[in-house]
Amino acid sequence: RGVRVKSAEFVKSSTSVEQCPPARYPEFAVIGRSNVGKSSLINMLTGRNALAMVSKTPGKTRLINHFLINGAWFLVDLPGYGYARASKGSVVEWNRFTREYFVERETLVTVLLLVDSSIPPMPLDISCAAWFAEAGIPFTVVFTKLDKRKKGASPSDDNIAAFEQVWLGWACGYAPPTVLTSSKSGKGRSELLAHVAQLRELFNK
Ligand code: GDP
Repeated sequence: RGVRVKSAEFVKSSTSVEQCPPARYPEFAVIGRSNVGKSSLINMLTGRNALAMVSKTPGKTRLINHFLINGAWFLVDLPGYGYARASKGSVVEWNRFTREYFVERETLVTVLLLVDSSIPPMPLDISCAAWFAEAGIPFTVVFTKLDKRKKGASPSDDNIAAFEQVWLGWACGYAPPTVLTSSKSGKGRSELLAHVAQLRELFNK
């Protein structure tokens, strides 16, 4: 239930919360470092290549892009994040609209924080998760690229375990839900859609 995507349409790009479409549906925001596999995941989830193309359009990569799924919920593509210049790389710096979006968007159900499982944990991703935890914004860690293994590199299982260990050390025991995915093989697609459906049901109650 809730795992079929019958329709998926691009609604609009926004540069502020004010510009976002009316807050009429529960929404799920997708975020991660650039190259984490965000466009591929949006494509895999919706089965619509055109949606991911929107996110990749020059000029739109720094905007908030709303996609309406099954006429019932929004999948929101947010700009990737980078380091705060002053902090020597350990503190996340949001695009100004993004921060405003997290804090002000009342229909935001959960953030899907994408983390690349083919590389060891990055301090930036941990810092981003810590920011959500501190701000009281619910998030789910969606590990990407489960199929990928570079020669001589650590396997995704080790990277995921290491991420969880570092994270738990930081956050004193609070563990967010996790979903393991591969856009290449389709792994985790129905699990992630079912997770979203379950959270929507709770939100609508
Ligand atoms: P974005 O910048 O976060 O939107 O990332 P993309 O979706 O454009 O993906 C970045 C790179 O990672 C591309 O070369 C993709 O082909 C590759 N990629 C994305 N998802 C997967 C995956 O599940 N498995 C593998 N092996 N590669 C992936």
